[in-house]
Amino acid sequence: MNPVDPKRWRRDFPLLSVRVHGQPLVYLDNAATTQKPRSVIDAVNRFYKTGNANVHRGSHALSAQATTAFEQARDRVAHWLGVDNSATLLWTRGTTESINLVAQSWGRQHLRQDDLILLMQSAHHANIVPWQMLATATGARIEVIPLQADGDIDLAAYHRLLGRKPALVALGHVSNALGTIYPVETLCRDAKAAGATVLVDGAQALPHFDVRLDTLGCDFYAFSGHKVFGPTGIGALWGRRELLEAMPPWQGGGEMIEQVSFDGTRYAGLPFKFEAGTPNIAGAIGLAAAIDYLDAQDRLAMETHEQALLQHALDACSQVPGFRPIASGSRRVSLISFELDGHHQQDVAHWLDRQGVAVRAGHHCAMPLMQSLGLPGTLRASFAFYNTLQEAEQLAQALDQLAQSQK
Ligand code: PLP
Repeated sequence: MNPVDPKRWRRDFPLLSVRVHGQPLVYLDNAATTQKPRSVIDAVNRFYKTGNANVHRGSHALSAQATTAFEQARDRVAHWLGVDNSATLLWTRGTTESINLVAQSWGRQHLRQDDLILLMQSAHHANIVPWQMLATATGARIEVIPLQADGDIDLAAYHRLLGRKPALVALGHVSNALGTIYPVETLCRDAKAAGATVLVDGAQALPHFDVRLDTLGCDFYAFSGHKVFGPTGIGALWGRRELLEAMPPWQGGGEMIEQVSFDGTRYAGLPFKFEAGTPNIAGAIGLAAAIDYLDAQDRLAMETHEQALLQHALDACSQVPGFRPIASGSRRVSLISFELDGHHQQDVAHWLDRQGVAVRAGHHCAMPLMQSLGLPGTLRASFAFYNTLQEAEQLAQALDQLAQSQK
């Protein structure tokens, strides 16, 4: 019996009441992007209706107001993450851009021929490809931290790899394809003790639980606003101040300079050095509204509910003939990766879609993980706090109908 009723949260999300193919939507694709509460939609609308102006450059009231709202949004997100100095929180387009920023700026400055970069077997392509590009440019080498059969990180192998003194360790906080929560505090501590710089991809963690960057122990943390109930096109990179200060800018243009002449340019300080061009002002304001929304809820109740959803969905689906969950370790968020024996994943996803159930099928931007599992891809049902136990049952019922129809 689940004591938390998500109905009060559902009312805040207008999109959850749409119909798809004539059926009420059962939205289980939250790992791809989350739906937005009305307060986020209103904050973005309000900015364009009554507050739109460019930031940091205007000499009129509206511009000053937009600048204040934009910088307050940065303070809000920084504070939520336990970051004291909000100048160390850089706006980006999202996790992908944040990781590319580190690879192109910190990476090109620090990595040399034969330096070692450690990546995880389950990494999202956003935490693989930028490092491969860097390796090609610098001659650095990449090694992969394997997983155990149950999806958890292989700690013995990790420690062996740390013994080879990597320059950079790029970790994932939560696997987007398996739902596994990795013990990043311990992994960061051990990587730091081995002398590495550590980046953590937090894209799939923040939608499910609070993260404190003052105690996590990494050097860089990347995430996307749209996965945490905020708008698309906005995200952030947090970095240790001394690292960010020593890093060169990676894109040049307006906003990131203090003085420009044809003889040379003096760059602005943090955070502006890394924010060339007009930023996503409405996105930042919308993201702060999403954080306000989350902070106003009982996040522990959300977590409890999500774990109940996970268990309920697993229990119901395991009654379906041919349902095969893919291993995902001892600690996991409310996400199920699975196969339905005898059915192609795309066909299953299409069938579910016709029943109004939105899931994702494919490699989930984690092709190396799929290769190691010997699978072309999986089906993924990813839950958020606003999903109901009934929706978990609808998923199982729809799968069961498909499985029974083939008997
Ligand atoms: N890392 C992980 C773990 C993800 O799940 C995703 C998105 O699916 C990304 C990175 C990339 O995020 P974005 O496309 O918002 O940059």
